[in-house]
Amino acid sequence: MTFSDLGISPLILRAITDAGYTEPTAVQAESIPAALAGEDLLVSAQTGSGKTAAFLLPALVKLTERSSASGKGPRVLVLTPTRELAQQVEKNATEYGTHLRWLRTVCLVGGASFGYQVRAMSRPVDIMVATPGRLMDHMRQGRVDFSRLEMLVLDEADRMLDMGFIEDIETIVRATPESRQTVMFSATLDGVVGKLAEKLTRNARRVEI
Ligand code: AMP
Repeated sequence: MTFSDLGISPLILRAITDAGYTEPTAVQAESIPAALAGEDLLVSAQTGSGKTAAFLLPALVKLTERSSASGKGPRVLVLTPTRELAQQVEKNATEYGTHLRWLRTVCLVGGASFGYQVRAMSRPVDIMVATPGRLMDHMRQGRVDFSRLEMLVLDEADRMLDMGFIEDIETIVRATPESRQTVMFSATLDGVVGKLAEKLTRNARRVEI
């Protein structure tokens, strides 16, 4: 199995070859084709499984197709529980997207300059990576437009729920188009995570590695 077999396009393939990845991990092999087919996903994956690339690579492939929608808002939104994880995800997105010259990412996390984040949103954004609290701050100020949003990713959904972000997540999701694709990653899929998935996803494919 190669990344090319999974449907990853050449400019992105070049970046992952540069990163030294020779073959997809199990979670990537299961998740990427389904994500590219537009399915909602509920994936149980631990840190270290290659879960970040499992959602970023299909997101980047989708972004290479032009959006017909106008506006500046993000086409992909990734929510993470912590600022460190958000920054890591944004770093990986710029790494895998290094040959996509047009790619624009923004990271909205607490503890970082508001002004910088606002300026970053004054031009069209492809991928927004955010923690729920800081994203809500920007939303309350009317600064975030989700009309172009195609894909929503909840990374480490169980940790976000443990940290008490359920209401923020529900508010954020209500602001996104119903037509979006929703992808959830979590160490566990049962209990509250399963309930949230029932609310947010449609016929989600479960991937358990
Ligand atoms: P993650 O589970 O997303 O935190 O990824 C764990 C580590 O695995 C990161 O350092 C990635 O750069 C690396 N990684 C992800 N996918 C692959 C792959 N297919 N081959 C080799 N390393 C990978």
